[in-house]
Amino acid sequence: MPERRATRAGATGRATRASADRVETPEAKRERVRCILRELRRAYREADCALAHTNALELLVATILSAQCTDERVNQVTPALFRRFPDARALADADQREIEEYVRSTGFFRNKARALVTLGRALSERHGGEVPERMEDLVRLPGVGRKTANVVLGTWFGRPAIPVDTHVTRVSGRLALTHEQDPLKIEADLQALLAESQWTFVSHALIWHGRLVCQARRPACERCTLRAHCPFPARA
Ligand code: SF4
Repeated sequence: MPERRATRAGATGRATRASADRVETPEAKRERVRCILRELRRAYREADCALAHTNALELLVATILSAQCTDERVNQVTPALFRRFPDARALADADQREIEEYVRSTGFFRNKARALVTLGRALSERHGGEVPERMEDLVRLPGVGRKTANVVLGTWFGRPAIPVDTHVTRVSGRLALTHEQDPLKIEADLQALLAESQWTFVSHALIWHGRLVCQARRPACERCTLRAHCPFPARA
């Protein structure tokens, strides 16, 4: 089993990780990924985006607001925000200071309010008020990076997409699915390991696993369903 090999690799740190890589053959890694997928499906069958939304614009806005903020906090402010500003035109015509009051508790509220006004204008001017369905159009919108675009593509439009956030970065790193830190490279590594049909589910499942079990400061390896397939406990 690859994780046993990783255990024998001993010690901690980068050198250990490198030696774990050397002993894990591509076939062994594919088998380990299959096991991880099976466990994720058992544990997070219903895994989905935690941001409340009823259309693509609401999801886009909520994802922008979730920067440096919890999804729970975002979900507290968005119902009133969406009622007051129900479409791109309403955001475009909004007084930024009024939006600031709605989103104040999500942090960085001036920047976020400004981003929502400029987003509303860009959507109104370039896309008839609709959220575009193509990555290249989404990432040209103000305040929209690749991660946010992937959230909208995967969750709303049902396209294969892997949004790489802090949870996906941490958990996929500990599982040795990637040794990259750059989100674009992590996304590419995960894309190479997984079938397209698995991308969106796995990203949601890794996010939930990162929230509930594999937390940043103290991963609960002793009760983790992925433990048998994860080299991290042996390295820690
Ligand atoms: S075994 Fe530990 S490090 Fe690995 S995924 Fe589970 S909680 Fe995270």
